[in-house]
Parts: sequence; C-alpha cells; structure tokens
Amino acid sequence: MSELQALLKYQDVDAKLKKIEQEISSSEEKKKYFQARKFLENAADKLDAIDARALELKRLAQILTKKFIEMNEILKDLSNVDELIAEGADVSFYVKNAQALNDGMKTLKQDLNGLIDKINAAAEEYKKLKAQTIKMQKQYNEYKEKYAAIKESKKEASNAIQKELSEIEKTISPDIMAKYKNKRRENTFPILCALKNDRCSLCGMELPLASRSKLSGGNVIECDNCHRFIFSE
Ligand SMILES: [Zn+2]
Repeated sequence: MSELQALLKYQDVDAKLKKIEQEISSSEEKKKYFQARKFLENAADKLDAIDARALELKRLAQILTKKFIEMNEILKDLSNVDELIAEGADVSFYVKNAQALNDGMKTLKQDLNGLIDKINAAAEEYKKLKAQTIKMQKQYNEYKEKYAAIKESKKEASNAIQKELSEIEKTISPDIMAKYKNKRRENTFPILCALKNDRCSLCGMELPLASRSKLSGGNVIECDNCHRFIFSE
C-alpha cells in the first residue's frame, strides 16, 4: 500500500471516529450539560450586579431619609408659628417655609414611589435568578451524568477505531501524520481531497502548475486556501 493509499484508508477509518464525535457533540445531553454549566459560571456575576444595585438603592433610601428629617425640622419650626406671629414675627417668612415644605413633600413622595418600584424590580430579578439557578443546578447534576454516560457508551467503539488507526499510522510518515492530526484538531474534515480540473475539489482553489507537478508519485500538497491535503487520482 502506497503512503497515499494508507492516508486515504486512515481518513476512511477516521471518518467513523468523527461520526461518533459528532453524535456526542450534537447530543441533547451535551447541549443541556453545557447550557447549565455556562449559566452557573455566569450566575455569580449576575448576583454581583444585583448586589451592586441593592447598595445603590440603599444609598438612595438614605438620601430620602435625610430629606425627610430635614422637612421634619422645618415642620417643628412651623408648629408654634401662632405664638411667633403673635410676638411680631414676619408672617411671609413662615408662609414661604410652608410652601417650600409642601413642594418638598410632593417631590419626596414621588422619589419614594420611584424607589419602591426599583426595589420591587430588583427583588423580582433576584427571585427569578434564584429560581433559575436552582433549576440549572439540577440540570447540571442530571446532565453531567447523562453526558458522561453517552461518552462511556461510545468508548468501546471509539477505542476499536483508535486501535485500527494506530495500525495504519505506522505506514505513514510522521511529519505528514502530524500535519493531518493538526488539521483534524482544527476541525477540518475531510482532510484529503482530490485534484479536479487543476483545482482543490473542496474549496475550488486553482493550483499553479508548479504545485501540481509535486503531486506525481502519490505525493500530497497543502491547499493554499483551505489547507487540506490535495492528491492526484
Ligand atoms: Zn482547498
């Protein structure tokens, strides 16, 4: 068997391994396991964001409390206004104070309502996050096992193919094999493709004459465009 034939045989067997890998990676078990894992990885950040919001809302509440205390002070001043006016104090000063107090109360009420809405929204978000986290924690545990089981169920077939591959590998030069495996790791498949009409049959890139002349005697060259091995049939 020539090296080219060995490479093509290797790829044929490797295709079976690729199929198993695809079955695992496209499985519902993997999808749900990775979905839960990703959610849980990001949950801490989401919780931090809610914590930061809670601190900000607390700060706003403190500001409103301070405003309320200030208004209360003004109200105290106004409580004995009758006596003060009887003693000859300026009425217009107290009227102005009372008006300012009235306006301040209105604004405070609005601000307070706004704050309550924000607090409710944050509490709702927290509640949702908590429920989702519990759900995803359960999904993680369940599908971690299911994903492992699916991999385990394919292990025997996968090992048999690996064994077959390592036998064929013995007849292929190490540098070509190393390049093949690199391409395989980069998710290129198929890795070998025939020259058709002076072009790479997979990506259509035309090969210059100088490159094509290297193909004689069962040699392979790499396509400049898709980096697959090109061979001449
Ligand atoms: Zn190509």
